Amino acid sequence: MPRTHRGLSWQCLALVAVMAVVWLLAPSNARGQAAQVVAPAGPTAEARTAAYFASIRDQPPLLRAFLRAFPKGADLHSHLSGAVYAESYIAHAAAAGLCVDRATWVAGPPPCDPATRPAVADALRDATLYDALVDAWSVRDFVPDPAVRSGRAQFFRTFRLFNAASDVARGDMLAEVVARAAAQNVHYLELMLSPDLGRAARLGALQQWDGDLPRLHAALQAAGMDEIVAFGRAQLDAMEARAREVLGCDTPGADPGCALPVRYLYQVNRVQPPERVFAQMVYGFALVQADPRVVGVNIVAPEDAYVARRDYRLHMAMFAYLRERAPAVNLALHAGELTLGLVPPEDLRFHIREAVERAGARRIGHGVSIMYEDDPFGLLDEMARRGVLVEINLTSNAVILGVEGRQSPFPVYRAAGVPVALSTDDEGVSRIDLTHEYQRAVEQFGLGYADLKTLSRNGLEYSFLPGASLWETPAYARFAAPCHDAVPGAPPPAACQAHLDASEKARVQWHLEEAFARFETAY
Ligand SMILES: [Zn+2]
Repeated sequence: MPRTHRGLSWQCLALVAVMAVVWLLAPSNARGQAAQVVAPAGPTAEARTAAYFASIRDQPPLLRAFLRAFPKGADLHSHLSGAVYAESYIAHAAAAGLCVDRATWVAGPPPCDPATRPAVADALRDATLYDALVDAWSVRDFVPDPAVRSGRAQFFRTFRLFNAASDVARGDMLAEVVARAAAQNVHYLELMLSPDLGRAARLGALQQWDGDLPRLHAALQAAGMDEIVAFGRAQLDAMEARAREVLGCDTPGADPGCALPVRYLYQVNRVQPPERVFAQMVYGFALVQADPRVVGVNIVAPEDAYVARRDYRLHMAMFAYLRERAPAVNLALHAGELTLGLVPPEDLRFHIREAVERAGARRIGHGVSIMYEDDPFGLLDEMARRGVLVEINLTSNAVILGVEGRQSPFPVYRAAGVPVALSTDDEGVSRIDLTHEYQRAVEQFGLGYADLKTLSRNGLEYSFLPGASLWETPAYARFAAPCHDAVPGAPPPAACQAHLDASEKARVQWHLEEAFARFETAY
């Protein structure tokens, strides 16, 4: 049976009680006023912060400033190439001497032609060209026309247009995304990328597809998979070195992004023939096992595309085959980024369940079509029980699928106890940031301050960072045993410090709790 949305939590009700007191004490700009608002036996810093939040939640400009400073655990669903803003791609393409076709807005190598295929650098002196390029390489000011008829079409089209510009500046791209996250008090990033630059798929293209996965697996290995793994790792080295240079990480003026922990997910392109898709999966698993910076595998590209639909079960079976041989490799899979009308109803009935049950995904990207699945409540229960987190991309779902507000299953997941975290998907193309997604969630779904903290903590608890959790359980009621007595803001006791030293995940979680403590003393 359907269950209703949880509604106001007990924390919210408690807050209402303290609000009257706090209201008199907290000025409209509460930052820096902590010393004046301390009252004997008064509300805790958390309660004061929650009361301030409740007082400004209907004022978008104040809410924006509050949520930007609010400590956010992670962005777990971010494609590096989609996270870069068009303005940056123009700069990178201009610096690399690329040209752009005026008819299609596709960037490419020289020779340029001033009339039909000008240098991208011309846009730096030609405001009309610059504006047109920003619009073409993002969803800014998008107006449907007969050639590009929907936000979805424009969204996916952009990647093809700026693709050449994304090939020339990966380190700069990483620097941009990391700096933006740090400036929003984000504590961890898992970025999706493909550091093999298409080599794994090309290795797969040399193989014959006969459905015999063990044979194909061995053939790919013999054909030189290890060399491509080494190539991908070298690409990551170069990208990170360049990002550190751009961010000035070894200088006194280092960007705060230098301290942000970042890991990667290898993304498999699902809209390809089976031998190429399988080769990418084999590659992704090998890369995860070879390089601790790569913590999992994902599968990307439009789920409604013909090949993605035709081979959906086959792809999940491929993942199952590989996970049987390497169960420690984490999967976060795009599944259920669909809605009625986009595909036949039959396609809506099994994608999320197959990703969870067959492939063994620990996280689901989007999961929009959950209520179209067979036995949706059984599946929700199973995801809650197994702790399968759903990465919620509110703006992306609105732009690509036209699903938002009351049509979104976000409250359904929460009511069912399925863990959720907010993420951006493609903040550059969508022209948003993670703060915007928190704001959207507050404005459309009536979240309280305690709900925001749970979303933020989920980003780390369900990350693929290695190590044991800081928390006893994901209810976040109490720290794990070694840290029972620890108080964020004070040095952790020795046993807790040992726990943190042994677990990278717990360390980042501790930093988030310290950030909450600092953030909340300001209100
Ligand atoms: Zn995505």
